[in-house]
Amino acid sequence: MITLSNRVNAITASPTLAMNALAKQMQAAGIDVINLGVGEPDFQTPDNISRAAIAAVKAQKTSFYTPASGLLALKEAIVERVARQYNANIMTENVSVTTGAKLSLYVLMQVLLNPGDVVVTAAPEWVSYVEQIKLAGGRLIEVHSDNPAMKLTISELKKIKDDVKLIIVNSPTNPTGQVYTKSEIEDILNWANEHDTFVILDEIYGQLVYNGAQFTSGLQLQEPENSHMIIVDGVSKSYSMTGWRIGWTIASSAIISAMNKLLGHMTSNPTVAAQYAAIEALSGEQDTVEYMRKAFEQRLNTTFEALNDIDGLQVDVKPQGAFYLFPKIDENTIKRVGVKNTVELSTKILEEAHVALPAGEGFGMPNYLRLSYAKDQATLDEAIKRLKMFFKKYM
Ligand code: PLP
Repeated sequence: MITLSNRVNAITASPTLAMNALAKQMQAAGIDVINLGVGEPDFQTPDNISRAAIAAVKAQKTSFYTPASGLLALKEAIVERVARQYNANIMTENVSVTTGAKLSLYVLMQVLLNPGDVVVTAAPEWVSYVEQIKLAGGRLIEVHSDNPAMKLTISELKKIKDDVKLIIVNSPTNPTGQVYTKSEIEDILNWANEHDTFVILDEIYGQLVYNGAQFTSGLQLQEPENSHMIIVDGVSKSYSMTGWRIGWTIASSAIISAMNKLLGHMTSNPTVAAQYAAIEALSGEQDTVEYMRKAFEQRLNTTFEALNDIDGLQVDVKPQGAFYLFPKIDENTIKRVGVKNTVELSTKILEEAHVALPAGEGFGMPNYLRLSYAKDQATLDEAIKRLKMFFKKYM
């Protein structure tokens, strides 16, 4: 028998990736599964971006290590982009480029947390925060806010008696698609500064907002150098570049230096060709980003209506961003289907309706399912048809 570390034994595998793997396995066996479980755009990476990577390889720019925190040219592209977009004034010393935003978050937990340190998030939250906090020995306080949008509010923060080391806010939120307003972000940042608490603002879906919703970046409100604010972002979602694995952190130079120290022993640097692709993504033409955003907006509008039409499912507050719907499943429906919880329900839906939807349990919120609408409309329509038939059968 092999004995593995307590650290790894304590964490659970990503339920969204597990659902994705199961769906792929069924597809490989010839079953027509519609996979709405994955959090990635269905579009190909825009051509100008792929060509920039190919050009870098051909020009022999990709043979050697770069600094652990990424190419200076990419950090400059990030600095320019936030200046253009948010009127923010940061330096390249405030930026660390990582192998995806997920690694930025992992390294941040390692840099910020000591065993027992309290981290606050609002449930439902992205699955990996929970495990990354555990891996760093942190103690998660999951706030179950009673506002319909399930956002973290100042009044909820005020109720917490423990010293809070870190707050994580994800806007637009995976899995609810809610966008925090300027004053909501401002209130949390001010509270954090007063309490010596760090705030990670995960802005990975920041470019994907719909129907006139306004995204507020923390960079419009505070300068990272002199605050407790930390921004995490990347190219995965808005540029359809999940496979390239480029994300970044913007924070005080002290936090960035600590991250870089760790990254130097972990990845050495993100893949160089992908870094060149990211430079083009940030600095090249942005028309395809708008094209993809508009497509997601249309899909949200049609899928939201159609999903709410199914008896037994309910999305109370319409999402304003990201590409997820997080319908609540009422207790009676769960009982009628003859399952104990939404984990079992999602397995039954996969087996009988051949639609993959991860259960809310993985996001800290039982009695919900998550649906990603990052699929073409015809596929979404077919998925809704199957779900309708599935639930009708048990009504
Ligand atoms: N943050 C959130 C909320 C996410 O949903 C994801 C991806 O699913 C990430 C961060 C990580 O993005 P990536 O590592 O692809 O840059």
